[in-house]
Amino acid sequence: MAISKIIRISEKLAELKRKQEEEGAQRLAAKNKLPYMDLSVFPINAEVLYLLPEKEAHRGNLIVLKRQLDKITVGLVDPQNPETRAILENLATKYGCAVSLVIISLSSLQRAFKFYQVKVSDVPLVGKVTINKKYLDEFNERVKNITELKDRINTLSTTEILETIIAGSLKTGAGDIHIEPGKQIRLRYRIDGVLQDVANFPEKSYKFLLTRIKLLSDLMINIHDQSQDGRFTIQIVEQVSEDEKKVLQEMETRVSILPEGNAETVVIRILGAGIEKLDIKNIGLRETTFQTLLREVQKPNGLILNTGPTGSGKTTTLYSFLNYLNNPKIKIITIEDPVEYRLPGIVQTQISKNYSFAQALRAILRQNPNIVMVGEIRDEETAQIAIQAAMTGHLVFSTLHTNDATNTVHRLIDMGADIKTLPDSLNAIIAQRLVRKICPKCKEEYEPDKETLLKIEKVLSIVSPRARLELPKTRKLFRSKGCPDCFGLKYRGRYPLFEVLTMNEEIRKLILNRASAFEILVSAVDAGMLTLYQDGVLRALEGLTDLEEVERVVGKPGYLEELYERAVSQSLTRGITIAEEKKNKLEKESKERSNIEKILAKDPQEELLGDIIAFSLLLRATDIHIEPTQSDLLVRCRIDGILQDIAKLPKIYHLPLLGEIKILGGLKTKQFTGVQEGRFNIDFGDKSLDTRLSIISGGYGETAVIRILGLSEDVQTAEGGLDLKMMGIRQEIYPLFEKEFHKPTGVILNTGPTGSGKTTTLYGILQLLNVRGTKIMTIEDPIEYRLSGIIQTQIDEAAGYTFAKALKSFLRQNPNIIMLGEIRDEETAKIAMQASLTGHMVISTLHTNDAASTIQRLINLGISPGDIASAMNAIMAQRLVRKLCPNCKKPYKPDAATANEIKETLSSLPKNIKAPNLSSITLYKPKGCSKCKNIGYWGQVGLFEIMIKDENLQNLFAKGAQTLEIKKAAQAGGMITLRQDGLLKALDGLTSIDEVERVTGELEKAEI
Ligand SMILES: [Zn+2]
Ligand SMILES: [Zn+2]
Repeated sequence: MAISKIIRISEKLAELKRKQEEEGAQRLAAKNKLPYMDLSVFPINAEVLYLLPEKEAHRGNLIVLKRQLDKITVGLVDPQNPETRAILENLATKYGCAVSLVIISLSSLQRAFKFYQVKVSDVPLVGKVTINKKYLDEFNERVKNITELKDRINTLSTTEILETIIAGSLKTGAGDIHIEPGKQIRLRYRIDGVLQDVANFPEKSYKFLLTRIKLLSDLMINIHDQSQDGRFTIQIVEQVSEDEKKVLQEMETRVSILPEGNAETVVIRILGAGIEKLDIKNIGLRETTFQTLLREVQKPNGLILNTGPTGSGKTTTLYSFLNYLNNPKIKIITIEDPVEYRLPGIVQTQISKNYSFAQALRAILRQNPNIVMVGEIRDEETAQIAIQAAMTGHLVFSTLHTNDATNTVHRLIDMGADIKTLPDSLNAIIAQRLVRKICPKCKEEYEPDKETLLKIEKVLSIVSPRARLELPKTRKLFRSKGCPDCFGLKYRGRYPLFEVLTMNEEIRKLILNRASAFEILVSAVDAGMLTLYQDGVLRALEGLTDLEEVERVVGKPGYLEELYERAVSQSLTRGITIAEEKKNKLEKESKERSNIEKILAKDPQEELLGDIIAFSLLLRATDIHIEPTQSDLLVRCRIDGILQDIAKLPKIYHLPLLGEIKILGGLKTKQFTGVQEGRFNIDFGDKSLDTRLSIISGGYGETAVIRILGLSEDVQTAEGGLDLKMMGIRQEIYPLFEKEFHKPTGVILNTGPTGSGKTTTLYGILQLLNVRGTKIMTIEDPIEYRLSGIIQTQIDEAAGYTFAKALKSFLRQNPNIIMLGEIRDEETAKIAMQASLTGHMVISTLHTNDAASTIQRLINLGISPGDIASAMNAIMAQRLVRKLCPNCKKPYKPDAATANEIKETLSSLPKNIKAPNLSSITLYKPKGCSKCKNIGYWGQVGLFEIMIKDENLQNLFAKGAQTLEIKKAAQAGGMITLRQDGLLKALDGLTSIDEVERVTGELEKAEI
């Protein structure tokens, strides 16, 4: 009590003393007919202080208060002091302007002197805050997190506050600074889109800060009850020498001051914050989305809209595209409010109170630019001119405030867009949001709870296969604890989410028919669009952000449930899950194959399809056939290339089962004629399998065939990769063949009928060639197996994306190796040959009977014999035979005729192949046991005929020689035929003579 009283008394005394001092100064001012100023009320501008060096100021007891164009205002204590007068004269000469004088008190002067301590701001310019690079570096060194920043601000002198606040915002990457009065003055930064409390400071500092900001921004200091807008520049400088500074960076700000109660709220927005490098490759678009957009922005005209709320990164994305499209041959003009970032080579204009977007756009179109960017479409007029411009040969970029891409269509219609021309003028509607990135330094993986998992499954299940995305296999999410690296905020930086709607026939029709936004959404998602939410969930699974953040920014989409319901019931595809326990249970029950039929016949309807699929997969089926006969429903599986009956079920199962399969494959349930094709996913234990479904109507009703894509276990390594050596190429041949596919250019063809394992062999080759520095691209129909590190694409005949078209566009990307799923036509054959002759390695497949006949087939496809001779490296023919079950195979002595045939066929074995002992021949035949499900065979192995081009063959190719002649020459050069390879494998007990006959018999007959 006593102490506080003493303080109060001493304060009172000090106040009294100051009052006397001020009164003295006032009298002196009156006497000299000069104005008087109290610097405890009027703020001191630290930036103009430096017009007079500190030493001189002390010597002459004066300071500079203000600088205007034609005069400098100086505050002084004694106008009669000769020192003072001398310095004043110097000042006038130095700056070539008038000096006006103001009388101040000694305590005001001393107060002003303290401002020289502010080392941070020393370039005397109004409208600019200058921060020394050295100060920033030191700041960055000392202030590691928000707590330290808070401490720093609380201990600062008022004069240093603004610089520190700005330095802090630059350090944390804050886009805007909020100074909000209340019980305490609150300082907040918007970091990565979210307001974060930084510090509270005393009212005294606030008043000073407010005045300083108003002065800087050229606003009225004495107005407190009106909103005011202004701007200033932040300059980062480097002190090169004692009186020379280099400007390193300049940033524009927008200042907005709003009255709030008895005080004012200040928001300083730093423009261009976070724009570092405008590179479309780095803005966070998925490869497929990027390609889609690239196609749209390269069109000569049309509208590209980016939608989203303020601060969603819309403009940066559009800037990046402009920057990408910018070249001296095209004219780009922007209309902005304000110009946020300068793009060299682009004419950027700014609207004002009297110059609206619509007016500016009209004026600019008269200059006939190729590309126009309109900062924002805010009104009907602008919308209509923009659409018109897009229709009349301009590419127009703009932004719009809408929630998502599909709703934008209706927003444009509401703004008066003509529904008839709208679909044709729209190229793409992008919706964008920024989510905060989880700090990579302190993030950790975790298992989401059941509810979250279910949500993720739903979101992923409605990703259309047309999105051409590889969906993540794991369901792990990430979270962070906070660390110094992220200032304890758990997040660091931001990442964009995108939703891109482009036009197709169906969406065009929907718009014309005034379909609802939801109908457009369903169609767009079906066509492969990822919604913002889906993109967000995928980004969360990729560990870039978390679900909470995605939902904060995108909201919980109401459409999700509805879309999912639709997906289940109709247009979108989905999958079926067979859990590990179920799999194990069925595996036990199906030890005897004959049990399967009994189990299926007793199955409740809802379990029947799942069980059929599960049993088929346990039997390693590659396709499942569900066929009605006159009296039954037959379930058959292709196992190791051969159809096997699995079960005969009552025919009443037919309709419900087909209905369920159609729903699963996203097909029309009410259609019973013609051909329908679809696909779905099977999660089988820990494996995820893709399928192709086709339904064909026949005499007894519809037949369903489910083809299971993926690799046979026979050729898989323990790690799940592919092993070319396990496929059955003879070890004498393998090194020679290997040399061929390691060559930098040429063509390698694998021939044979469907199901002969051709593609798998090519995959095996690609896997061996897939090393760093080699660019491999594939064009397939469909992609059957994913190879990491290889760019795999799929053709889409219906959309006109054919093998030939894909190949042409690939060559522009200059890959080292191209795998072409199949050469089907003349055009593809010709481009493939050209590709190899221009320095690429091309591997592909072809439907021919054997290696030698491929040459005539290529000639028939229009390839010149000369090109074949120079392009071809090797041609192989391949078949698959079933492997005998090692557990139950039975040895036997073949009859004389068979033995003779074997001897004769093998008599022409090339010298490099070790001939078996043929004096006593033992062969093996299948029997059947529980290990092979009573089939007698288990697994497959390849038969190979590999024709490697040597000089002799090259000459024959060049001549366009007949097949037989080529075959003989190839055999003489070391080629072993399919049949020879088969017989050798039969003698080894690997397969049976029946199998060899089955796959090569046709060949032999053709030859005789
Ligand atoms: Zn962290
Ligand atoms: Zn067996």
